[in-house]
Amino acid sequence: MPETSGPTCRFCGSRLEFTFVDLGMSPFCESFLREDQLDQMEGFFPLHVYVCGQCFLVQLEEYLPPEDIFSEYAYFSAYSDSWLAHAKSYVDMITERLALDGSSRVVELASNDGYLLQYFVQKGIPALGIEPAANVARAGVERGVETLVEFFDREMAQRLASSGRSADLIIGNNVLAQVPNLNSFVEGIRLLLAPGGVVTIEFPHLLRLMTENQFDTIYHEHFSYFSFSTAERIFAAHGLTLFDVDELPTHGGSLRIYGRRADDDSKPVSEAAKALRRREDEAGLNGLDAYRLFREQVEATKRDLLEFLIDRRREGASIVGYGAPGKGNTLLNYCGIRTDFLDYTVDRNPYKHGMYLPGTHIPIYSPDRISETKPDYILILPWNLKNEISKQLAYTAEWGAKLLVPIPRLETL
Ligand SMILES: [Zn+2]
Repeated sequence: MPETSGPTCRFCGSRLEFTFVDLGMSPFCESFLREDQLDQMEGFFPLHVYVCGQCFLVQLEEYLPPEDIFSEYAYFSAYSDSWLAHAKSYVDMITERLALDGSSRVVELASNDGYLLQYFVQKGIPALGIEPAANVARAGVERGVETLVEFFDREMAQRLASSGRSADLIIGNNVLAQVPNLNSFVEGIRLLLAPGGVVTIEFPHLLRLMTENQFDTIYHEHFSYFSFSTAERIFAAHGLTLFDVDELPTHGGSLRIYGRRADDDSKPVSEAAKALRRREDEAGLNGLDAYRLFREQVEATKRDLLEFLIDRRREGASIVGYGAPGKGNTLLNYCGIRTDFLDYTVDRNPYKHGMYLPGTHIPIYSPDRISETKPDYILILPWNLKNEISKQLAYTAEWGAKLLVPIPRLETL
């Protein structure tokens, strides 16, 4: 093979030679099927995750064009109460911290339906959303948030900046993982940032993914997985310094990083940022060995889960799923768990009732199905909501059902 073949790092361009984890071939995790689609051909793509040996960016190749991710998979985040509360408390905190007022400008990248920017608008702080999915952007405009329907990149940032719309605050929440051209995106942030301006970005923390075995949060829709150290390297390459960080409980453990222009001396690098960099160093994230161990841990999880399911099935037990989240689809496809192990799953979202999980073709019913069939075991696929769900399922104790979570390791609640 010629030297130039094979995947290369989305950030630094090095050849990707090291496997982080290979979850095999999997369909896109949100491509639920209708009954009439069950006999049709289904698209499977590799969930083969690499780690770059130079910059340690963990990444997948792009099989899904970003247009599809941002149109088909966009969800209306305003529907979730806890997410709205998270957004509002962020807006209160950052408005005070940066002393934002009517003369400031805030820009959010992938602003969704304006669920976050609406709180700036309420405070009289000028806010602009950039959202590539037209239907979602329209919902933002309807709630009073000016929204441009575009993909954010270097060129767009240049255009905004030269028309006098530089930003004192740029926000990017859960968008960085889905950016195919990372360098153009981060360069765009620098170009759009006003002197003295701040960028905050939230993303799931790779260290948590690794230590808590959250391999099922790997999807085709997420191209990149960031540690603080790797994010720091990428931002530094574009003239941006990360000067602070918050650790958040969202999405199984996220980071909120704070960036500024490298030449802005008014914001010294915080102790929290230095301490996190040290913790990642100690966890081995700036060398390859820690990444190699992850693969072994994931394979052991698969063996343990299958062994349990096989033993229970041999004993004649009935097992069903709870929930139909994207992470469930990664787990079930990787482990090869179909209706031979799980009779069905249930979900509270009526849109999914009567549909089938992609790849595994496990049927999805309303949660009422559980009291009708009284299964022996219920595997909770959205393990991040296990406390809330086990409360909802308290009634299953009546016939002695056992509740299980698969991650970080198989456990009976
Ligand atoms: Zn790299």
